Amino acid sequence: MQFHVQGRINVIWQAAASDFAPLPSSGVPGIVWPAIPKGRDTETFAILAQLEMSQWWSPEALQRQQFRQLSELVRFAARSVPFYRRRLAQFGKQARNLTSADWRNIPLLNRADIQDAGTELTPNRSLQPHGETHIVKTSGSTGEPVKVRCNAVTSQFHAALTLRDHIWQQRDFSRKVAMVRRLSTELVSGLETGKVARWAAAYSSGPMIFRDVRELIDDTLRWLVREEPGYLMTYPTYLGELISRANDLGLKPERLREVTTFGEPVTDDLRALCRDRWAATVVDTYSAQEVGIVALQCPGRDHYHVQSEGVLLEVLDDAGRPCEPGEIGRVVLTPLHNFATPLIRYVIGDYAEVGAPCECGRGLPVIRKFLGRAMNMLKLPSGGHVWVAVSDSGLEKIVPLRHFQIVQLPNFSLRLKLVVERALSEDEELLARHAMTRATGHEFDVQLDYVDAIPRATSGKLEVVISEAID
Ligand SMILES: [Zn+2]
Repeated sequence: MQFHVQGRINVIWQAAASDFAPLPSSGVPGIVWPAIPKGRDTETFAILAQLEMSQWWSPEALQRQQFRQLSELVRFAARSVPFYRRRLAQFGKQARNLTSADWRNIPLLNRADIQDAGTELTPNRSLQPHGETHIVKTSGSTGEPVKVRCNAVTSQFHAALTLRDHIWQQRDFSRKVAMVRRLSTELVSGLETGKVARWAAAYSSGPMIFRDVRELIDDTLRWLVREEPGYLMTYPTYLGELISRANDLGLKPERLREVTTFGEPVTDDLRALCRDRWAATVVDTYSAQEVGIVALQCPGRDHYHVQSEGVLLEVLDDAGRPCEPGEIGRVVLTPLHNFATPLIRYVIGDYAEVGAPCECGRGLPVIRKFLGRAMNMLKLPSGGHVWVAVSDSGLEKIVPLRHFQIVQLPNFSLRLKLVVERALSEDEELLARHAMTRATGHEFDVQLDYVDAIPRATSGKLEVVISEAID
Protein backbone atom coordinates (compact mmCIF):
# COMPACT_ATOMS: atom_id res chain seq x y z
CA MET A 1 0.00 0.00 0.00
CA GLN A 2 2.84 2.30 0.98
CA PHE A 3 4.35 1.79 -2.48
CA HIS A 4 1.21 2.82 -4.32
CA VAL A 5 0.71 5.98 -2.27
CA GLN A 6 4.35 6.82 -2.92
CA GLY A 7 3.90 6.10 -6.66
CA ARG A 8 0.95 8.45 -6.87
CA ILE A 9 2.79 11.31 -5.22
CA ASN A 10 5.71 10.88 -7.59
CA VAL A 11 3.49 11.00 -10.62
CA ILE A 12 1.57 14.07 -9.44
CA TRP A 13 4.91 15.78 -8.89
CA GLN A 14 6.09 14.78 -12.39
CA ALA A 15 2.90 16.12 -13.96
CA ALA A 16 3.36 19.38 -12.06
CA ALA A 17 6.94 19.63 -13.29
CA SER A 18 5.91 19.35 -16.97
CA ASP A 19 4.19 22.04 -19.01
CA PHE A 20 1.19 19.84 -19.63
CA ALA A 21 -1.74 21.63 -17.99
CA PRO A 22 -4.84 21.51 -20.19
CA LEU A 23 -7.80 23.47 -18.88
CA PRO A 24 -11.33 22.11 -19.30
CA SER A 25 -14.08 24.19 -20.86
CA SER A 26 -16.14 26.06 -18.28
CA GLY A 27 -19.93 26.12 -18.54
CA VAL A 28 -20.38 29.23 -16.38
CA PRO A 29 -19.88 32.69 -17.93
CA GLY A 30 -17.05 34.62 -16.35
CA ILE A 31 -15.49 31.55 -14.72
CA VAL A 32 -12.43 30.26 -16.54
CA TRP A 33 -10.24 28.81 -13.81
CA PRO A 34 -10.75 26.43 -12.18
CA ALA A 35 -13.42 25.67 -14.72
CA ILE A 36 -16.95 24.54 -13.84
CA PRO A 37 -17.90 22.00 -16.53
CA LYS A 38 -21.57 21.59 -17.42
CA GLY A 39 -23.89 18.91 -18.82
CA ARG A 40 -22.32 15.64 -19.96
CA ASP A 41 -18.83 17.07 -19.40
CA THR A 42 -19.52 17.02 -15.65
CA GLU A 43 -20.17 13.28 -15.78
CA THR A 44 -17.08 12.65 -17.92
CA PHE A 45 -14.94 14.49 -15.36
CA ALA A 46 -16.59 12.67 -12.46
CA ILE A 47 -15.56 9.34 -14.02
CA LEU A 48 -12.11 10.62 -14.99
CA ALA A 49 -11.42 11.81 -11.42
CA GLN A 50 -11.97 8.20 -10.25
CA LEU A 51 -9.82 6.79 -13.06
CA GLU A 52 -6.99 9.13 -12.06
CA MET A 53 -6.89 7.37 -8.69
CA SER A 54 -7.77 3.80 -9.63
CA GLN A 55 -4.90 3.51 -12.14
CA TRP A 56 -2.51 3.45 -9.13
CA TRP A 57 -4.40 0.81 -7.16
CA SER A 58 -2.87 -2.63 -6.67
CA PRO A 59 -4.02 -5.34 -9.12
CA GLU A 60 -5.89 -6.97 -6.20
CA ALA A 61 -7.79 -3.78 -5.35
CA LEU A 62 -8.71 -3.28 -9.01
CA GLN A 63 -9.95 -6.86 -9.31
CA ARG A 64 -12.03 -6.52 -6.16
CA GLN A 65 -13.96 -3.57 -7.61
CA GLN A 66 -14.24 -5.25 -11.02
CA PHE A 67 -15.91 -8.24 -9.41
CA ARG A 68 -18.37 -5.98 -7.55
CA GLN A 69 -19.38 -4.51 -10.92
CA LEU A 70 -19.41 -7.92 -12.63
CA SER A 71 -21.72 -9.26 -9.91
CA GLU A 72 -24.25 -6.56 -10.84
CA LEU A 73 -23.93 -7.32 -14.55
CA VAL A 74 -24.19 -11.09 -14.16
CA ARG A 75 -27.17 -10.86 -11.81
CA PHE A 76 -28.97 -8.57 -14.27
CA ALA A 77 -28.16 -10.85 -17.23
CA ALA A 78 -29.32 -13.96 -15.37
CA ARG A 79 -32.66 -12.36 -14.51
CA SER A 80 -33.46 -10.20 -17.51
CA VAL A 81 -31.66 -11.48 -20.62
CA PRO A 82 -33.29 -14.61 -22.11
CA PHE A 83 -30.02 -15.94 -23.56
CA TYR A 84 -28.31 -15.97 -20.16
CA ARG A 85 -31.20 -17.31 -18.12
CA ARG A 86 -30.06 -20.91 -18.25
CA ARG A 87 -26.38 -20.21 -18.70
CA LEU A 88 -26.17 -18.09 -15.54
CA ALA A 89 -29.15 -19.56 -13.64
CA GLN A 90 -27.11 -20.13 -10.46
CA PHE A 91 -26.24 -16.42 -10.20
CA GLY A 92 -29.75 -14.99 -10.64
CA LYS A 93 -30.78 -15.11 -6.99
CA GLN A 94 -27.48 -14.69 -5.19
CA ALA A 95 -26.85 -11.39 -3.52
CA ARG A 96 -23.23 -12.26 -2.74
CA ASN A 97 -20.31 -11.15 -4.89
CA LEU A 98 -18.94 -13.36 -7.63
CA THR A 99 -15.59 -15.00 -6.98
CA SER A 100 -12.92 -15.73 -9.56
CA ALA A 101 -13.76 -19.45 -9.16
CA ASP A 102 -17.41 -18.69 -10.09
CA TRP A 103 -16.15 -16.69 -13.00
CA ARG A 104 -14.06 -19.46 -14.52
CA ASN A 105 -17.14 -21.71 -14.60
CA ILE A 106 -19.09 -19.33 -16.84
CA PRO A 107 -18.99 -20.63 -20.43
CA LEU A 108 -17.20 -18.58 -23.09
CA LEU A 109 -19.31 -16.62 -25.58
CA ASN A 110 -18.32 -17.00 -29.24
CA ARG A 111 -19.20 -14.82 -32.19
CA ALA A 112 -21.51 -17.57 -33.49
CA ASP A 113 -23.34 -17.64 -30.11
CA ILE A 114 -24.12 -13.94 -30.49
CA GLN A 115 -25.31 -14.40 -34.06
CA ASP A 116 -27.49 -17.39 -33.13
CA ALA A 117 -28.92 -15.68 -30.03
CA GLY A 118 -30.20 -12.68 -32.01
CA THR A 119 -32.74 -10.75 -29.91
CA GLU A 120 -32.41 -13.28 -27.06
CA LEU A 121 -29.42 -11.18 -25.96
CA THR A 122 -31.61 -8.11 -25.51
CA PRO A 123 -32.94 -7.57 -21.96
CA ASN A 124 -36.68 -7.95 -21.52
CA ARG A 125 -36.98 -4.97 -19.24
CA SER A 126 -36.35 -1.30 -19.75
CA LEU A 127 -33.07 0.23 -18.73
CA GLN A 128 -34.13 3.84 -18.68
CA PRO A 129 -31.41 5.18 -16.39
CA HIS A 130 -28.77 3.84 -18.82
CA GLY A 131 -30.03 6.14 -21.58
CA GLU A 132 -31.06 5.54 -25.15
CA THR A 133 -29.68 2.52 -26.96
CA HIS A 134 -28.10 2.36 -30.39
CA ILE A 135 -26.93 -0.59 -32.47
CA VAL A 136 -23.24 -1.15 -33.22
CA LYS A 137 -22.26 -3.53 -36.00
CA THR A 138 -18.79 -5.00 -35.83
CA SER A 139 -16.55 -4.71 -38.83
CA GLY A 140 -15.90 -8.42 -39.22
CA SER A 141 -13.79 -8.99 -42.31
CA THR A 142 -15.39 -12.33 -42.99
CA GLY A 143 -18.87 -13.65 -42.49
CA GLU A 144 -21.83 -11.94 -40.94
CA PRO A 145 -21.28 -8.89 -38.74
CA VAL A 146 -22.16 -9.12 -35.06
CA LYS A 147 -24.78 -6.66 -33.82
CA VAL A 148 -24.53 -5.31 -30.29
CA ARG A 149 -26.64 -2.67 -28.55
CA CYS A 150 -24.86 0.12 -26.67
CA ASN A 151 -26.28 3.04 -24.70
CA ALA A 152 -25.55 6.42 -23.14
CA VAL A 153 -23.68 4.78 -20.24
CA THR A 154 -21.29 2.91 -22.53
CA SER A 155 -20.71 6.13 -24.52
CA GLN A 156 -19.96 7.96 -21.28
CA PHE A 157 -17.26 5.46 -20.28
CA HIS A 158 -15.88 5.61 -23.82
CA ALA A 159 -15.58 9.39 -23.52
CA ALA A 160 -13.80 9.17 -20.15
CA LEU A 161 -11.31 6.52 -21.35
CA THR A 162 -10.61 8.50 -24.54
CA LEU A 163 -9.86 11.50 -22.36
CA ARG A 164 -7.54 9.39 -20.20
CA ASP A 165 -5.63 8.46 -23.38
CA HIS A 166 -5.27 12.14 -24.32
CA ILE A 167 -3.98 12.93 -20.83
CA TRP A 168 -1.60 9.94 -20.72
CA GLN A 169 -0.14 10.98 -24.08
CA GLN A 170 -0.17 14.69 -23.13
CA ARG A 171 -1.87 15.67 -26.38
CA ASP A 172 -2.04 19.32 -27.28
CA PHE A 173 -5.75 20.11 -27.45
CA SER A 174 -5.20 23.14 -29.68
CA ARG A 175 -3.94 20.98 -32.59
CA LYS A 176 -5.96 19.58 -35.48
CA VAL A 177 -6.71 15.84 -35.73
CA ALA A 178 -7.02 14.06 -39.08
CA MET A 179 -8.76 10.70 -39.21
CA VAL A 180 -8.38 8.41 -42.23
CA ARG A 181 -10.47 5.27 -42.06
CA ARG A 182 -13.40 3.55 -43.68
CA LEU A 183 -16.12 6.13 -42.98
CA SER A 184 -19.61 4.97 -42.08
CA THR A 185 -22.59 6.44 -43.91
CA GLU A 186 -23.82 7.91 -40.58
CA LEU A 187 -20.54 9.78 -40.12
CA VAL A 188 -20.52 11.02 -43.72
CA SER A 189 -24.09 12.34 -43.44
CA GLY A 190 -23.16 13.97 -40.09
CA LEU A 191 -20.27 15.76 -41.79
CA GLU A 192 -22.50 16.92 -44.62
CA THR A 193 -24.81 18.64 -42.16
CA GLY A 194 -21.81 20.32 -40.56
CA LYS A 195 -21.94 18.49 -37.22
CA VAL A 196 -18.28 17.87 -36.44
CA ALA A 197 -17.47 16.62 -32.95
CA ARG A 198 -14.77 18.10 -30.76
CA TRP A 199 -11.98 15.57 -30.60
CA ALA A 200 -11.49 15.96 -26.86
CA ALA A 201 -14.65 15.78 -24.76
CA ALA A 202 -14.89 18.45 -22.05
CA TYR A 203 -11.99 20.51 -23.45
CA SER A 204 -12.09 23.16 -26.12
CA SER A 205 -10.08 21.29 -28.73
CA GLY A 206 -8.98 21.91 -32.29
CA PRO A 207 -11.03 20.60 -35.22
CA MET A 208 -11.19 16.99 -36.34
CA ILE A 209 -11.19 16.29 -40.07
CA PHE A 210 -12.06 13.04 -41.80
CA ARG A 211 -11.23 11.23 -45.02
CA ASP A 212 -12.19 7.83 -46.36
CA VAL A 213 -9.40 5.28 -46.71
CA ARG A 214 -10.70 4.44 -50.22
CA GLU A 215 -9.75 7.87 -51.63
CA LEU A 216 -6.65 7.96 -53.84
CA ILE A 217 -3.61 7.82 -51.60
CA ASP A 218 -1.77 10.63 -53.41
CA ASP A 219 -4.76 12.94 -52.89
CA THR A 220 -4.93 11.99 -49.22
CA LEU A 221 -1.23 12.74 -48.80
CA ARG A 222 -1.56 16.17 -50.36
CA TRP A 223 -4.59 16.80 -48.14
CA LEU A 224 -2.51 15.90 -45.06
CA VAL A 225 0.33 18.21 -46.11
CA ARG A 226 -2.14 21.04 -46.77
CA GLU A 227 -4.18 20.60 -43.56
CA GLU A 228 -1.12 20.32 -41.27
CA PRO A 229 -2.73 18.20 -38.53
CA GLY A 230 -0.84 17.66 -35.27
CA TYR A 231 -2.27 14.15 -35.00
CA LEU A 232 -3.27 11.50 -37.50
CA MET A 233 -5.49 8.54 -36.69
CA THR A 234 -5.46 5.56 -39.06
CA TYR A 235 -4.80 1.83 -39.57
CA PRO A 236 -1.16 0.70 -39.18
CA THR A 237 -0.98 -0.76 -42.70
CA TYR A 238 -2.34 2.46 -44.17
CA LEU A 239 0.25 4.49 -42.25
CA GLY A 240 2.97 2.30 -43.79
CA GLU A 241 1.54 2.97 -47.23
CA LEU A 242 1.34 6.72 -46.63
CA ILE A 243 4.94 6.96 -45.42
CA SER A 244 6.28 5.02 -48.38
CA ARG A 245 4.26 7.04 -50.92
CA ALA A 246 5.23 10.33 -49.22
CA ASN A 247 8.85 9.34 -49.62
CA ASP A 248 8.33 8.77 -53.39
CA LEU A 249 6.62 12.12 -53.85
CA GLY A 250 9.01 14.05 -51.58
CA LEU A 251 6.14 15.10 -49.30
CA LYS A 252 5.97 15.25 -45.50
CA PRO A 253 3.20 16.37 -43.11
CA GLU A 254 5.41 18.88 -41.29
CA ARG A 255 3.47 19.55 -38.09
CA LEU A 256 2.58 15.94 -37.34
CA ARG A 257 3.75 14.82 -33.89
CA GLU A 258 1.89 11.57 -33.35
CA VAL A 259 -0.02 8.91 -35.25
CA THR A 260 -2.70 7.07 -33.29
CA THR A 261 -3.30 3.65 -34.78
CA PHE A 262 -6.13 1.19 -34.35
CA GLY A 263 -7.75 -1.87 -35.93
CA GLU A 264 -4.67 -3.93 -36.82
CA PRO A 265 -1.49 -5.04 -35.02
CA VAL A 266 1.41 -2.56 -35.04
CA THR A 267 4.92 -3.74 -35.85
CA ASP A 268 8.15 -2.42 -34.33
CA ASP A 269 9.31 -1.70 -37.90
CA LEU A 270 6.39 0.66 -38.45
CA ARG A 271 7.10 2.53 -35.20
CA ALA A 272 10.74 3.01 -36.27
CA LEU A 273 9.80 4.02 -39.83
CA CYS A 274 7.35 6.67 -38.63
CA ARG A 275 9.90 8.06 -36.18
CA ASP A 276 12.69 8.15 -38.78
CA ARG A 277 10.78 9.50 -41.77
CA TRP A 278 8.15 11.72 -40.16
CA ALA A 279 9.61 12.38 -36.68
CA ALA A 280 6.26 11.28 -35.26
CA THR A 281 5.58 8.65 -32.60
CA VAL A 282 3.08 5.85 -33.09
CA VAL A 283 0.63 5.42 -30.22
CA ASP A 284 -1.57 2.37 -30.61
CA THR A 285 -4.96 1.71 -29.05
CA TYR A 286 -6.72 -1.62 -28.78
CA SER A 287 -10.46 -1.27 -29.01
CA ALA A 288 -13.40 -2.99 -30.66
CA GLN A 289 -16.62 -1.41 -31.79
CA GLU A 290 -18.76 -3.92 -29.88
CA VAL A 291 -16.70 -3.62 -26.67
CA GLY A 292 -15.23 -0.09 -26.63
CA ILE A 293 -11.73 0.83 -25.47
CA VAL A 294 -9.89 -2.21 -24.12
CA ALA A 295 -6.22 -1.21 -23.72
CA LEU A 296 -4.13 1.94 -24.11
CA GLN A 297 -0.40 2.39 -24.49
CA CYS A 298 1.47 3.24 -21.29
CA PRO A 299 2.83 6.81 -21.55
CA GLY A 300 6.36 6.62 -23.02
CA ARG A 301 6.28 2.83 -23.46
CA ASP A 302 5.22 0.54 -26.30
CA HIS A 303 3.19 -1.91 -24.23
CA TYR A 304 -0.44 -1.57 -23.18
CA HIS A 305 -2.39 -1.20 -19.96
CA VAL A 306 -5.76 -2.96 -19.84
CA GLN A 307 -8.52 -0.47 -19.04
CA SER A 308 -9.75 -2.50 -16.09
CA GLU A 309 -12.26 0.12 -15.02
CA GLY A 310 -14.20 -0.55 -18.24
CA VAL A 311 -13.51 -4.15 -19.18
CA LEU A 312 -12.31 -7.46 -17.77
CA LEU A 313 -9.67 -8.83 -20.15
CA GLU A 314 -8.65 -12.47 -19.86
CA VAL A 315 -5.86 -14.07 -21.90
CA LEU A 316 -6.50 -17.81 -21.95
CA ASP A 317 -4.41 -20.71 -23.22
CA ASP A 318 -5.84 -23.63 -25.22
CA ALA A 319 -6.91 -25.36 -21.99
CA GLY A 320 -8.78 -22.24 -20.83
CA ARG A 321 -6.22 -21.33 -18.14
CA PRO A 322 -5.03 -17.71 -17.67
CA CYS A 323 -1.70 -17.09 -19.42
CA GLU A 324 1.39 -15.96 -17.47
CA PRO A 325 3.68 -13.07 -18.55
CA GLY A 326 5.44 -14.07 -21.81
CA GLU A 327 2.67 -16.45 -22.88
CA ILE A 328 0.29 -15.91 -25.81
CA GLY A 329 -3.39 -16.76 -25.63
CA ARG A 330 -6.90 -15.92 -26.77
CA VAL A 331 -8.36 -12.58 -25.74
CA VAL A 332 -11.65 -12.92 -23.83
CA LEU A 333 -13.50 -9.71 -22.98
CA THR A 334 -16.32 -8.69 -20.65
CA PRO A 335 -17.36 -5.02 -20.89
CA LEU A 336 -18.36 -4.09 -17.32
CA HIS A 337 -21.08 -1.56 -18.04
CA ASN A 338 -23.02 -2.69 -21.11
CA PHE A 339 -26.41 -3.80 -19.80
CA ALA A 340 -28.04 -3.27 -23.25
CA THR A 341 -26.30 -6.34 -24.73
CA PRO A 342 -24.29 -7.96 -21.95
CA LEU A 343 -21.25 -9.69 -23.45
CA ILE A 344 -19.98 -12.06 -20.78
CA ARG A 345 -16.63 -13.78 -21.56
CA TYR A 346 -16.72 -12.82 -25.24
CA VAL A 347 -14.06 -14.50 -27.40
CA ILE A 348 -13.26 -11.69 -29.79
CA GLY A 349 -10.93 -13.71 -32.04
CA ASP A 350 -7.68 -11.84 -31.29
CA TYR A 351 -4.57 -13.12 -29.53
CA ALA A 352 -2.33 -11.28 -27.06
CA GLU A 353 0.92 -11.73 -25.15
CA VAL A 354 0.69 -11.04 -21.41
CA GLY A 355 3.33 -8.63 -20.05
CA ALA A 356 5.02 -8.30 -16.65
CA PRO A 357 3.86 -5.53 -14.25
CA CYS A 358 4.87 -2.08 -15.52
CA GLU A 359 7.62 0.04 -13.98
CA CYS A 360 5.37 3.12 -14.17
CA GLY A 361 3.60 1.93 -11.00
CA ARG A 362 0.12 1.61 -12.48
CA GLY A 363 -1.69 -1.49 -11.26
CA LEU A 364 -3.59 -1.90 -14.53
CA PRO A 365 -2.56 -5.24 -16.12
CA VAL A 366 0.00 -5.18 -18.93
CA ILE A 367 -0.33 -6.63 -22.43
CA ARG A 368 3.01 -6.70 -24.21
CA LYS A 369 1.55 -7.15 -27.67
CA PHE A 370 -1.74 -7.68 -29.45
CA LEU A 371 -1.23 -10.19 -32.23
CA GLY A 372 -4.47 -9.74 -34.08
CA ARG A 373 -6.80 -12.31 -35.43
CA ALA A 374 -6.37 -16.04 -35.52
CA MET A 375 -6.00 -15.32 -39.24
CA ASN A 376 -2.40 -14.27 -38.52
CA MET A 377 -1.75 -17.97 -37.98
CA LEU A 378 -0.73 -20.60 -40.50
CA LYS A 379 -1.35 -24.31 -40.25
CA LEU A 380 1.56 -26.75 -40.35
CA PRO A 381 1.24 -29.98 -42.36
CA SER A 382 1.96 -31.77 -39.05
CA GLY A 383 -1.28 -30.31 -37.63
CA GLY A 384 0.11 -27.55 -35.38
CA HIS A 385 -0.15 -23.80 -35.87
CA VAL A 386 2.48 -21.14 -36.32
CA TRP A 387 2.39 -17.36 -35.86
CA VAL A 388 3.61 -15.15 -38.66
CA ALA A 389 6.01 -12.59 -37.20
CA VAL A 390 5.87 -10.15 -40.11
CA SER A 391 8.13 -7.59 -38.43
CA ASP A 392 10.85 -10.21 -37.87
CA SER A 393 10.92 -11.22 -41.54
CA GLY A 394 12.78 -8.14 -42.78
CA LEU A 395 10.74 -8.43 -45.98
CA GLU A 396 10.00 -4.72 -46.10
CA LYS A 397 13.72 -3.92 -46.03
CA ILE A 398 14.72 -6.47 -48.66
CA VAL A 399 12.50 -5.56 -51.57
CA PRO A 400 11.00 -2.29 -52.89
CA LEU A 401 7.61 -3.14 -51.51
CA ARG A 402 4.36 -1.24 -51.33
CA HIS A 403 2.17 -3.95 -49.97
CA PHE A 404 2.06 -7.64 -49.39
CA GLN A 405 -0.27 -10.36 -48.26
CA ILE A 406 0.45 -13.95 -47.31
CA VAL A 407 -2.22 -16.42 -48.34
CA GLN A 408 -1.91 -20.04 -47.25
CA LEU A 409 -3.64 -22.40 -49.66
CA PRO A 410 -5.49 -25.52 -48.47
CA ASN A 411 -2.44 -27.62 -49.52
CA PHE A 412 -0.36 -25.65 -46.92
CA SER A 413 1.77 -23.82 -49.52
CA LEU A 414 2.05 -20.01 -49.36
CA ARG A 415 1.22 -17.44 -51.98
CA LEU A 416 3.13 -14.26 -51.26
CA LYS A 417 1.19 -11.51 -53.03
CA LEU A 418 3.39 -8.49 -53.70
CA VAL A 419 2.69 -4.98 -54.88
CA VAL A 420 6.17 -3.76 -55.83
CA GLU A 421 7.69 -0.59 -57.20
CA ARG A 422 9.68 -2.47 -59.87
CA ALA A 423 10.29 -6.04 -60.96
CA LEU A 424 12.43 -8.00 -58.50
CA SER A 425 15.74 -9.56 -59.43
CA GLU A 426 16.25 -13.31 -58.97
CA ASP A 427 18.34 -12.62 -55.88
CA GLU A 428 15.60 -10.46 -54.38
CA GLU A 429 13.02 -13.14 -55.06
CA LEU A 430 15.21 -15.62 -53.21
CA LEU A 431 15.55 -13.19 -50.28
CA ALA A 432 11.78 -12.77 -50.20
CA ARG A 433 11.37 -16.55 -49.92
CA HIS A 434 13.94 -16.65 -47.12
CA ALA A 435 12.04 -13.86 -45.36
CA MET A 436 8.99 -16.12 -45.29
CA THR A 437 11.02 -18.85 -43.62
CA ARG A 438 12.23 -16.35 -41.02
CA ALA A 439 8.71 -15.00 -40.42
CA THR A 440 7.21 -18.45 -39.92
CA GLY A 441 10.13 -20.50 -38.65
CA HIS A 442 9.16 -23.19 -41.19
CA GLU A 443 10.02 -24.18 -44.76
CA PHE A 444 6.73 -23.62 -46.56
CA ASP A 445 6.52 -23.85 -50.32
CA VAL A 446 6.36 -20.19 -51.38
CA GLN A 447 5.00 -18.93 -54.69
CA LEU A 448 5.51 -15.22 -55.50
CA ASP A 449 2.56 -13.52 -57.07
CA TYR A 450 2.85 -9.94 -58.41
CA VAL A 451 -0.41 -8.01 -58.24
CA ASP A 452 -1.45 -4.39 -58.87
CA ALA A 453 -3.30 -3.94 -55.59
CA ILE A 454 -4.45 -5.81 -52.53
CA PRO A 455 -8.00 -4.86 -51.68
CA ARG A 456 -8.92 -3.91 -48.12
CA ALA A 457 -11.71 -5.78 -46.35
CA THR A 458 -15.10 -4.06 -46.10
CA SER A 459 -14.06 -2.88 -42.62
CA GLY A 460 -11.19 -0.88 -44.17
CA LYS A 461 -8.60 -3.17 -42.59
CA LEU A 462 -5.95 -5.01 -44.55
CA GLU A 463 -5.50 -8.65 -43.64
CA VAL A 464 -1.77 -9.37 -43.92
CA VAL A 465 -2.13 -13.10 -43.37
CA ILE A 466 -4.98 -15.29 -44.56
CA SER A 467 -4.96 -19.06 -44.15
CA GLU A 468 -7.30 -21.18 -46.22
CA ALA A 469 -5.81 -24.25 -44.55
CA ILE A 470 -7.36 -23.43 -41.14
CA ASP A 471 -11.04 -24.40 -40.88
ZN1 LIG B 1 2.92 1.57 -17.42
